[in-house]
Amino acid sequence: MGYNKKMFGLGSRRSIIREIFEYSKKRAAEIGADNVYDFSLGNPSVPAPDEVNDAIASLIASESSVLLHGYTSAQGDANVRKIISDKISESFGVNISPNLIYMTCGAAASLSICLKALIEEDSDECIVFAPFFTEYRVFIENAGGRIVISNPEPDTFQIDIADFESRLTRNTKAVIVNSPNNPSGVVYSEKTVRALCEVLKRKSQEFSHPIYLIADEPYRELVYSGVKVPYLMNYYDNTLVCYSYSKSLSLPGERIGYIAVSPTMEEGENVYLAVCGAGRSLGYVCAPSLFQQVIARCIDAKVNVEAYKENRDILYDNLTAYGYKCVKPDGAFYLFVKAPEDDAYKFYERAKKHELLVVPCDDFGVFGYVRIAYCTDKQKVIGSLPAFHALAEEYGL
Ligand code: PLP
Repeated sequence: MGYNKKMFGLGSRRSIIREIFEYSKKRAAEIGADNVYDFSLGNPSVPAPDEVNDAIASLIASESSVLLHGYTSAQGDANVRKIISDKISESFGVNISPNLIYMTCGAAASLSICLKALIEEDSDECIVFAPFFTEYRVFIENAGGRIVISNPEPDTFQIDIADFESRLTRNTKAVIVNSPNNPSGVVYSEKTVRALCEVLKRKSQEFSHPIYLIADEPYRELVYSGVKVPYLMNYYDNTLVCYSYSKSLSLPGERIGYIAVSPTMEEGENVYLAVCGAGRSLGYVCAPSLFQQVIARCIDAKVNVEAYKENRDILYDNLTAYGYKCVKPDGAFYLFVKAPEDDAYKFYERAKKHELLVVPCDDFGVFGYVRIAYCTDKQKVIGSLPAFHALAEEYGL
């Protein structure tokens, strides 16, 4: 009786990232923000492109505010969906109709809606690839499913195809792929994607039901040096793409993104209707109207990815020179660093003594690593180097 204890658990146990973020604010008040090197939160540091602010100003000046701030259709404004489907067709060669686009409040909502749309039975399983975004567990379990974790190839953090295959069962309903990856920054290669999709096709046939591939893509645009992120619809028919403008346009607080259902999906129109039903049952009503219109006007806008690349290069080059071990990230804004001792929490505590705030990654499904979110000011990154150096010396690296 009483309130829901599972929800109480979620609400009362703050994620480690939030915990560190709160500590950072407290510490900044004590010793000054300039002296705290907070690499905890994936909050974009690069401003939204000028086009976004111009679009907001011009929409407010020119559109009827009743329409601008009103409800849209549940699946999103038809013209906005048309602009997005045209962009997908142009960018990836997938001929997708606006009727397969569903506007959402960002990737978190997209994922929750997709999982709710697909998961039916308590026994339904959803495979995630470690290291994985910790909220997947919350979204999968909230949709009534079970999370199954596949371990990565140890040195590259690419998907270990043999491990993946061993995790698939008749209960596998969906698989979530996140590339560029949070927290590793790794982009899954085309070879990995092909191998993954080959297994999915074979197993779907063997089990006589579709296994859905959910592509979680908030970092698609944040890639360095021309690295290509394969578009999963081009490799596997039963794909749903969960896209978000949180990182690609630096708009995380505005909550805007979409779900795209592959035009070649089995019973795709019905799956789309299940997506609409899931959005309805979760009470989303519609994605923010103003920001749907902003997206329509800024469909080609880009943030300054070069700023993230500079931070990546400074950190990767210096930390590896000090003796730390990490995979060179091709995208997102995270560096995944092997803790110089087995226990990532102990390393985190020792880093804290140098005012370095990094995130121990046990909850991401890989032990003994920390995440450095380098979506921060370049001067801060440079300023943190002596502390990383001193810490490396302490460990005798
Ligand atoms: N998926 C991954 C891998 C993320 O890192 C995040 C946010 O950091 C999300 C989803 C949620 O993003 P959004 O702000 O679009 O809901």
